Amino acid sequence: MKKDDCIFCKLANGEIPTNTIYEDNDFRVFLDAAPATKGHCLIVPKEHFDNLESLDENIASGVMPLAKKMMKLLKEKLNWDGFNIVQNNGEVAGQTVFHFHTHLIPRYKGDGQDLVMKPCGLSDDDIKGVLKEIVS
Ligand code: AMP
Ligand code: ZN
Repeated sequence: MKKDDCIFCKLANGEIPTNTIYEDNDFRVFLDAAPATKGHCLIVPKEHFDNLESLDENIASGVMPLAKKMMKLLKEKLNWDGFNIVQNNGEVAGQTVFHFHTHLIPRYKGDGQDLVMKPCGLSDDDIKGVLKEIVS
């Protein structure tokens, strides 16, 4: 299903032109309009899902194989030194477009990007407490 007011539905389905590097029945992969690095692109399903929580299982199972395929293509063409895969869910996590998408971000020595997480300071006891909350 598509959502009328969703820009990524229009981009993924070719209603608005994109810098597409790959397309199949389920997905379009196009260059991000405000790239973090050279070759930063987005895997976007053609159907609308707000985020990973609501993503169809079949579509979900296609994302990582496609990411791997695009990594290989980008390695051959752009010769990256490292690679980040980022997928934001919810405003607090940095999601700004509410149509599921996965960022593919080639990394280069000295590219000036900083996508490294910083520890939040939980102690070992705190971590044990978290474990209890999750698995009990
Ligand atoms: P997120 O913050 O994870 O929701 O990422 C949304 C991404 O979509 C950002 O990196 C934007 O630069 C990118 N973006 C938004 N509009 C467009 C567009 N029309 N074409 C390509 N990329 C876009
Ligand atoms: Zn959409």
